Amino acid sequence: MRTDLYVGGAFAPAASGRRFPVVNPATEELLADVAEGEAADVGRAVDAARACFESDGWRKLAPRDRGARLARAADLLEQRADEFARLETQQNGKPLFESKIDVAMTVETLRYYAGWADKITGATLPVSGDFFTYTLKEPVGVVGAIVPWNFPLNLASWKLAPALATGCTVVLKPAEETPLTALLFAEVLEAAGFPPGAVNVVAGFGPTAGAALVQHPGVDKIAFTGSTEVGRLIQRGAADTLKRVTLELGGKSPNIVFADADVAAAVKGAQTAIFYGKGEVCAAGSRLLVERSVHGRVVEELAVRAKKLVPGDPFEKATRLGAVVSKRQQETVLGYIAKGKAEGATLVAGGSAATVNGKGYFVQATVFDGVTPEMTIAREEIFGPVLAVLPFDTVEEAAVLANQSMYGLAAGIWTKDLQKAHRVARAVRAGTVWVNTYNTYDSAAPFGGYKASGFGRDLGREALDGYLETKTVWIAL
Ligand code: ADP
Repeated sequence: MRTDLYVGGAFAPAASGRRFPVVNPATEELLADVAEGEAADVGRAVDAARACFESDGWRKLAPRDRGARLARAADLLEQRADEFARLETQQNGKPLFESKIDVAMTVETLRYYAGWADKITGATLPVSGDFFTYTLKEPVGVVGAIVPWNFPLNLASWKLAPALATGCTVVLKPAEETPLTALLFAEVLEAAGFPPGAVNVVAGFGPTAGAALVQHPGVDKIAFTGSTEVGRLIQRGAADTLKRVTLELGGKSPNIVFADADVAAAVKGAQTAIFYGKGEVCAAGSRLLVERSVHGRVVEELAVRAKKLVPGDPFEKATRLGAVVSKRQQETVLGYIAKGKAEGATLVAGGSAATVNGKGYFVQATVFDGVTPEMTIAREEIFGPVLAVLPFDTVEEAAVLANQSMYGLAAGIWTKDLQKAHRVARAVRAGTVWVNTYNTYDSAAPFGGYKASGFGRDLGREALDGYLETKTVWIAL
């Protein structure tokens, strides 16, 4: 395990010598005391990233060689997949099988952007007059990547991989709840041949280390995934230095079940949509909109499934619902459940905290029926295993309800009617629409938000744009 900051190619304690505890939320045991980075450490990391960015060792590295290093990092991570998956489960509380998927997706993301490194091109432009005019695509510079605790390693790779493919250097600030896999990943990047300073990992808290990164004049771009509230702070904090900012923020994603769907598949899909990752998923299908004629059946079947989804030891093979990330998060989720009850929604499954072997911050798989759009649990992102079910009567009403949210990250549609699927997919204002599936991801498919869910895209070719400047060159002929 690595518990020191990784700056300029070396692991070292924070300048202040301070450390903070990282706790296993399933056992309440102390996992590690991790070096607590603050402004001074962020400053050193930015200097190292800048020095690397300006160095011949980085500038003269051919794009293909950057790609080869990313590919090598993918191989090395794959070889250590079990070790990383176990550590992810220990710090996050998610079932081990989910952590294995996270690591596999990280490997895939590294491979995908390894392939892009030598395929980033400008264009020649058909301008008027006697000129030869073309564009160059150049790296934006030093990137500050700030990521949350729900998919710690995977989301770090969503920023790191395209940034490195384009030739940027990076200072990564993992979430204070889950810094361990990011710190360990520094070993992989070093072994893959990335030079000192290309990637730096500064663990620490949001208001100190995170804010210092956002305000530092030596950082050219902030790539953030996290809450909408912190996204606003980041946008504001980056204004003075006019940093580029991309934000992947919260959601309250509608999952729409039409009566003409394969209802059994839709119920199963609805379950995964909200309970995978304990509902600590920005795209979680947390509002289930159900056509009235199948509403009774859907709620009944879903309640049966939710009751079977008993929280368990994340390391047990059969476990499908782990611990929420922290006691604080557990309290937040329970607070929303209390609000749901107080505002008159009907609890049909779950609703309580739980422990496993007498320990841990677990929350039962919870389903509320009879939810109205005005209720808090229909409007606010809970980030926990809590589903709000709302009935509807017509396609038009479903689309209106779906869009009745400040968020616009994702949506699900369940129907066998192809025309209806396409029509509703167009009507919904969201960055991703899943039809007869949910929570499917691929490195080739862009992901990001409309409205208060942020802007800019992770993954796919489009993510590269967030790390590139366009230079237009005019040559008089
Ligand atoms: P979540 O709700 O998922 O915890 P947050 O938005 O609180 O999401 O946290 C996501 C990341 O943002 C974490 O790495 C956290 O430390 C960081 N963060 C929190 N507050 C700030 C801030 N004021 N400035 C910069 N980063 C912050």
